[in-house]
Amino acid sequence: MKRAGDYGIRLSEPPIYDWLAMRARKDKIVALMVGGIGQLFKSHGVKHFNGFGKIVDGNHVLVTDDDNRETRIKGANIIIATGSRALSIPSVPIDGHRVVTSDHMFEAENLPESILIIGAGVIGCEWACMMALLDVEVSMVEMLDRALPMEDAGVSRLIERELKKLKVSLYTGTKVDSIGPGPQGLQAQLSNGKTVEAGQALVAVGRAFNTGEMGLDRAGVVLNRNGSIMTDSRMRTNIENIYAIGDVRGEILLAYTAVHDGAVAVDNCLGEKSAKDYAGVPSVIFTYPEVASVGLTEDVAAKDFDVAIGKFPLRTLGKAHAENEIQGEVKVVGDKKTDRLLGVHIVGAHATEVIHTAALAIRHKLTVTQLGELIFGHPVISEAVMEAAHDLHGRSVHLARKRP
Ligand code: NAD
Repeated sequence: MKRAGDYGIRLSEPPIYDWLAMRARKDKIVALMVGGIGQLFKSHGVKHFNGFGKIVDGNHVLVTDDDNRETRIKGANIIIATGSRALSIPSVPIDGHRVVTSDHMFEAENLPESILIIGAGVIGCEWACMMALLDVEVSMVEMLDRALPMEDAGVSRLIERELKKLKVSLYTGTKVDSIGPGPQGLQAQLSNGKTVEAGQALVAVGRAFNTGEMGLDRAGVVLNRNGSIMTDSRMRTNIENIYAIGDVRGEILLAYTAVHDGAVAVDNCLGEKSAKDYAGVPSVIFTYPEVASVGLTEDVAAKDFDVAIGKFPLRTLGKAHAENEIQGEVKVVGDKKTDRLLGVHIVGAHATEVIHTAALAIRHKLTVTQLGELIFGHPVISEAVMEAAHDLHGRSVHLARKRP
């Protein structure tokens, strides 16, 4: 809306946003989705008990509801899907008002004028972009040497550039030593000697696993060292009939892999032999611009392969100009020897949708040539995937020819 004029739309008044209306819209959509699940339970004959569940043994769970009423449920198998919660750090105690998690932010009555975000991972970067676009002054602290450190180093470079354009002050290789009251609300002392003032602080430093007070000890369920539940590839814990899926397993913390875990666990409960298969699972990050990736990063691939790289900047695409979203690029990582496609990394408009073509190619072990052979529609953003694949062989006709 702020850039409406670029698209030839003249607004009679400058746009303003209404945070509470945005929040109400979010609540409505969430309620619709949750209600939909309730309907699905009914149609599939799933009985839902609302309350806190405690495992009694491999076949029984005790559920205590809000009125302290207890129900004992019997089942041939138990699947634990209790998820995770925001991790806190001792130097920055969460109080739910000044120092918050993303859960609190979703329920906030209003936005602060300034915010300090601790952790430039997925949650940190998503909120940094959203807040900056809503005119909140954002500072972000990351202990490692780059934003989105789990992504390809090239992705981090591009997203850091975009964060800068959004006027986010990013301090990498930095921690928060202490936090206390300050003129704007909070004042944080950083390990690099700087002091940051902000109205609120958002802690986004990873997740803790929801395994407490559930009777896991008594049942003898073994945990991993980080507190998540240990399972095998069939989602079985060490106790017969008890399975665990999703975040609480601690392997990969994504809603969409949790759904896959669930299907695997149910298959095994029903006597089939099914194991997890994460080949081609994309990472999708809702920053501005979006980030998405699948397969190996260049650095990881370089440990085992002689890598070749192809790149295509989105500013070369007509569709990117039409959408007025020209920032970002597609990067393809391949094996020079076999031409096998190893990884695809995208920063740019619709990256979280575009990545799935590449995900299918990675899953089915296609070559870079095969990815480039597909004739893509035009004009679309996805064309950049084909062009980056061609560029890996020095054959993208829409890029200036590289002279040896
Ligand atoms: P994360 O692991 O993605 O990022 C945490 C970041 O905090 C890391 O970069 C880490 O180096 C940094 N950090 C840790 N301790 C720190 C400290 N003391 N000071 C400064 N920096 C510190 O975790 P997250 O962002 O909290 O997200 C949690 C999980 O939820 C992730 O697994 C993420 O993939 C998932 N998630 C996914 C999506 C999505 O798919 N779009 C959205 C939200 C969350």
